[in-house]
Amino acid sequence: MGLLSEGSPLSWEKTKELSDHVRKHGIIQFINLYHRLKNRQGDVLKWGDEVEYIIVKFNHQKKIAQVSLRAQEILNKLQEKELLNPNGVKSLWRPEYSAYMIEGTPGKPYGGLLAHFNIVEANMRYRREEATELLNSDEVVMSLTSFPRLGCLNFTNPPYKPTPNQGASRSLFIPDETIFPGHPRFITLTRNIRLRRGEKVAINVPVFKDKNTKSPLTDDFEALCDESGESAKAAKPDHVYMDAMAFGMGCGCLQLTFQACNITEARMLYDQLTPLCPIMLALTAASPVHRGMLTDIDCRWSIISGSVDCRTREERGLEPLKKNKFQIPKSRYDSIDSYLSEQGEKFNDVPVIYDEKIYKQLREADIDHLLAQHISHLFIRDTVSLFSEKVDQDDMKDTDHFENIQSTNWQTMRFKPPPPNSTIGWRVEFRPCEVQLTDFENAAIVCFVVLLTRVILSYHLNFIIPISKVDENMTKAQKRDALKKELFWFRKDITTQVSPPHATAQCHSCSSESPELYTAMTIDHIINGKEGEFPGLIPLINSYLSVMDVDADTHCTIQQYLKLIQKRASGSLLTTASWIRNFVQTHPKYMKDSVVTDEINYDLLLTATKIQKGEITCPELHGHCTKMSKTQENIPEAVSKLYPCT
Ligand code: ADP
Ligand code: MG
Ligand code: MG
Repeated sequence: MGLLSEGSPLSWEKTKELSDHVRKHGIIQFINLYHRLKNRQGDVLKWGDEVEYIIVKFNHQKKIAQVSLRAQEILNKLQEKELLNPNGVKSLWRPEYSAYMIEGTPGKPYGGLLAHFNIVEANMRYRREEATELLNSDEVVMSLTSFPRLGCLNFTNPPYKPTPNQGASRSLFIPDETIFPGHPRFITLTRNIRLRRGEKVAINVPVFKDKNTKSPLTDDFEALCDESGESAKAAKPDHVYMDAMAFGMGCGCLQLTFQACNITEARMLYDQLTPLCPIMLALTAASPVHRGMLTDIDCRWSIISGSVDCRTREERGLEPLKKNKFQIPKSRYDSIDSYLSEQGEKFNDVPVIYDEKIYKQLREADIDHLLAQHISHLFIRDTVSLFSEKVDQDDMKDTDHFENIQSTNWQTMRFKPPPPNSTIGWRVEFRPCEVQLTDFENAAIVCFVVLLTRVILSYHLNFIIPISKVDENMTKAQKRDALKKELFWFRKDITTQVSPPHATAQCHSCSSESPELYTAMTIDHIINGKEGEFPGLIPLINSYLSVMDVDADTHCTIQQYLKLIQKRASGSLLTTASWIRNFVQTHPKYMKDSVVTDEINYDLLLTATKIQKGEITCPELHGHCTKMSKTQENIPEAVSKLYPCT
């Protein structure tokens, strides 16, 4: 997110009173911005990544690793350069939900040159080094999806006690000091989501049942001071129970944003990337341990979805609708419910809940059905954080009320209109990926997805399957070892009538066999292809690259990235989640009881830091493809060559 504007948050009561005001002006603002910008043309490809880091503090004497709550202090220093010279920095730093997290992006978006793929990793490494310089000697910035012992006794440094009966979270496990203190947005969201819902969030993840796992597995709620009995009621046996926003929003992730040449292309890319969300989630799975327990899932997604689920009991369908307008099947953090392009329209097969009045207003303002449906769907949500300075706005110029609702619909894909008064065009954000330990892996994922967008556009590919099937894939993608064990719905024939002949060569034969457009495939088949049946995403990328003019050094970098993705997809390299699982299960102190003790956590994270620094190799995760290209070894030179203006 951009630099957060400062301000004073309103109470929940006041915010609630103003929810229709925010919606009303948000929609007017959208209509105005749409008509101002709908014909904007000719924007070029620009793109950038966002990496979220967790600051970990090691105590080598006691063999413990904790999250270090120094993000604000470190962030203030990281932002100094940007404040002095906003357009001349190689990195931008932003706060994140937790007091132990920071988010880094490149100083400027990358552009359409293939050579830019050759500086992504170097820029990530630069960011990591920049942050590392500000740390104490016992701290490390880690690109970890989940901190394994989040919510366990004394998991923070300095230590704080949870306050189950007061404060914003009221968690039995997470002290409010874990929330980023430097901006009121985060604590306000935490409080308001709990108050809107009418109870604490409740997340139950099935435990991984090992030989000696306690059964039934339950928490001792009396000892945890659950005075109201709320948690005891919400927790399911044999599940890891979590009761705070931090369990999800305190996870790290990897996101990318692309600029399209116009609104139509943005809508098309939004749709085409949607079926890839679960595939990329399974491929990047990196979070099998939560609250100190091995679980039966490999990803954070369902946890983060539950962690900000502000729906009331009525909205969740547990009680008849009286005070609320809608029953809503999904949390505001979830997979998307509808496609936005004409090609996608007939595949919108799940009920899209939307506000009829808002839909009508948008239609009357000459906004087409699909976009009106999308926006009126986002606007079934109430604002969950409002600042007094932002209540009254100029709807012709400002877009804050629109952004208020838009930016708290945390979905797998985000369709982003151009911000007011900027040179930025229509963009699409790809949001499912889990973050990996090393810059190499993160750069590989980012470059793979960006290359895929180029292939989709050049070859006019079509990945669209019914949204209900994408949702099924989302559920499968998070299961333990999904990459190897699950089959995913994927479109059989991804070519279109306008696809060039070389993209069609391998795949037309299959379309006549069955009336269904899609079939169940392994991720290996989807990514690497299957002779005579499916061309595979990597072979398509390679075919695209073969006619492009690319320097040898960049070529070599891209090939290393593709090799990594190829091997992860085929299962010959482990996902980060499987690697973490194996580490825990083969640790000499592991008691086969699913528990990730302080000592196991310490050893795991220490090994991970050595891998991320390149001090030890990890062939199970990376094979032998991690050597940096010549360009990347010389970051300043590479960056100044490609960005002559910095
Ligand atoms: P968010 O909506 O997630 O808060 P931001 O607007 O802060 O995201 O931008 C996130 C990413 O978008 C960064 O990686 C940044 O480099 C990239 N970005 C910035 N400008 C553009 C642009 N014009 N087109 C595409 N991506 C851009
Ligand atoms: Mg972020
Ligand atoms: Mg983002």
